[in-house]
Amino acid sequence: MKEHKFLTFDDLEQIRTEFGTPTYVYDESILRSNAQQLRAFPHAFDFFPRYAMKAAPTAALLRIFNNEGLGIDASSIHEVERAIRAGFGTESISLSTQELSEDFRFWAQDGVKINLCSLSQIDRYGKWKLGETVGLRFNPGTGSGGNNRTNVGGPSSSFGIWKDDLETAKNLCKENGLVVDRIHTHIGSGSDPEIWKKVAEMSLEIVRAFPSVHTLNLGGGFKVARMADESATDLQEIGQPVKALFKEFAVTTNRELKLEVEPGTFLVAHSCTLVTSVQDVTQTGSDGYRFIKLDSGMTEILRPSLYGAQHPIHICPEPGQVKFRENTEQVVVGHCCESGDLLTPAVNDPETLSPRSLPRAEIGDFCLIDSVGAYCSSMTAKNYNSFPEAAEVLKKEDGDLALIRKRQTFEQLIENEVVP
Ligand SMILES: *Cc1c(COP(=O)(O)O)cnc(C)c1O
Repeated sequence: MKEHKFLTFDDLEQIRTEFGTPTYVYDESILRSNAQQLRAFPHAFDFFPRYAMKAAPTAALLRIFNNEGLGIDASSIHEVERAIRAGFGTESISLSTQELSEDFRFWAQDGVKINLCSLSQIDRYGKWKLGETVGLRFNPGTGSGGNNRTNVGGPSSSFGIWKDDLETAKNLCKENGLVVDRIHTHIGSGSDPEIWKKVAEMSLEIVRAFPSVHTLNLGGGFKVARMADESATDLQEIGQPVKALFKEFAVTTNRELKLEVEPGTFLVAHSCTLVTSVQDVTQTGSDGYRFIKLDSGMTEILRPSLYGAQHPIHICPEPGQVKFRENTEQVVVGHCCESGDLLTPAVNDPETLSPRSLPRAEIGDFCLIDSVGAYCSSMTAKNYNSFPEAAEVLKKEDGDLALIRKRQTFEQLIENEVVP
């Protein structure tokens, strides 16, 4: 195989023998280096970076980020609990959730922070009479996701309090005795520095309306380039104009705001490779395709089927075989009985097959899918066709391969079933 960014062929054989395939393999050095890059995000005054753990919530990964000094953005009360079990202090966790459950009041009493995401959340939280300070998440009215399904700002996104409801939100907080000390605007701003600047400006306008606010959280949404033709966010480039705006804001208002950011994708996307095996190869005639069938698919990686997302794919025969494998156009599919289980869709078009030029694959070859750290292991069609949840492994800085999540057993797969 061509040089992989962190796996050797010996690693692959060890993974197949010790853990089986499919297995997600994360690289500790990449995780740490991403965290360090994030900590260097430009900032005018105080700064606190968080990890949006819904991207990949396994405890071993959380521990690495805790150790690198990041906080946590949790998207459900269950994530709050997972972060605490993995060793995070309650005060380093903040929750922005679409479903505010009653039980959160106990975490709030323990110091977990909240960004209230709707008018009804303000009302419900207020009724708990915790007398705490709160954050408010606003939808500032613009977005910039790749498509409607990943766009999290603007009129077609349900996330956050709509910008025109600012006065209503303010009054609701007042009525409920809540003091707003944080504003949050995660819209998935992407890689364009102009958009980051615009969102920062709009967000600072919201902050201006709340004199008690000391922290502005601009969310995550830094784009990473999985394929050669995609463009990645340059943190220094998007951060410099934001830093300048914070300084200006301080001059005109005498308020030195703390900046928070909370990417998921940026921190983990490139850190993980899914190691699978080719378990069948089929053809559909001269007008058809050559299909490579993996022992994996939407049960481990759903993004291609969901969004037409693109991931680098490597076919890795035994080193002695490599020279006999000419490249040919092939379609890579998963193991589910579902025609949508496709690893090579057209760009942003999950309905269309898009054959890729790859070394001619044979049964038993390894097939690696790269840049699967974000929203893969955490967002799957888990247990569809009753395939067990895959194992996860960490390649440590010393090169050792350590199991961080066991493969689900058959017993675990059916353990909650009851036959009355
Ligand atoms: C998902 C999410 C993030 C992280 O988004 P990425 O695109 O993975 O960086 C950050 N903040 C909130 C509130 C989120 O819901």
